[in-house]
Amino acid sequence: MKLNLKQDFHVHCNYNDHSSRNLTIPAIMQQAKILKLETLAITEHVRRTSNWIPKYLKEINLYNSNLKRKGNGQEFPKIISGFEAKILRDGSIDCPDEYARDFFLIASFHTIYGDKSLWLNALKTAIRNPDITVLGHLAPEATFILEHSELEEIAYEIAINGKIVELNAKYHRPPIDWIPSFKQKGVKFHLASDAHSLDEIGQFSRISDLISAAEDSRELEPSIP
Ligand SMILES: [Zn+2]
Ligand SMILES: [Zn+2]
Repeated sequence: MKLNLKQDFHVHCNYNDHSSRNLTIPAIMQQAKILKLETLAITEHVRRTSNWIPKYLKEINLYNSNLKRKGNGQEFPKIISGFEAKILRDGSIDCPDEYARDFFLIASFHTIYGDKSLWLNALKTAIRNPDITVLGHLAPEATFILEHSELEEIAYEIAINGKIVELNAKYHRPPIDWIPSFKQKGVKFHLASDAHSLDEIGQFSRISDLISAAEDSRELEPSIP
């Protein structure tokens, strides 16, 4: 399997309060065009209480149609509207249901729960949630590690539920030693800059080791007679 370096499935924008102010939706699309990206997902942090969602989606649609019009038949990036939502203690997702159902959704841990079994249960519930497409920057908390059997079980659940594990450039995740188990179970990967500024969009050199681990390099090795 080869990962497409021209696809970035995790980009924030200035609807939150901690990204660069110039990370506007039109600027992101312009950057995607400059970098000749094929696909870019705008995945702003969402909460159940977020009240800006209609405006956000409308703005993405508006600039997306402008981008296509100006493309004059030339290649233009495919822009995906989406969200990154937090996995809560009970494994539910901090995103209004109607948006979780209808849009590209990354589910990530953003709170330290300090309890491995709680973490594992929340993760398993999220993996079985049909609304979720991607598991964002997946990694254990600093206070625990997964036993091999726990990792195998998670990998199996991710694979049979068809979730994608992103290779996250901002946090350098998942742990590289998890990748063989994921691959063996048939988990799919894609690339995620998790950009919070324009210059981070589409930049994956920090995770070249994760990319090589995820790609199937066997055909490059000399065959043993
Ligand atoms: Zn995140
Ligand atoms: Zn993010």
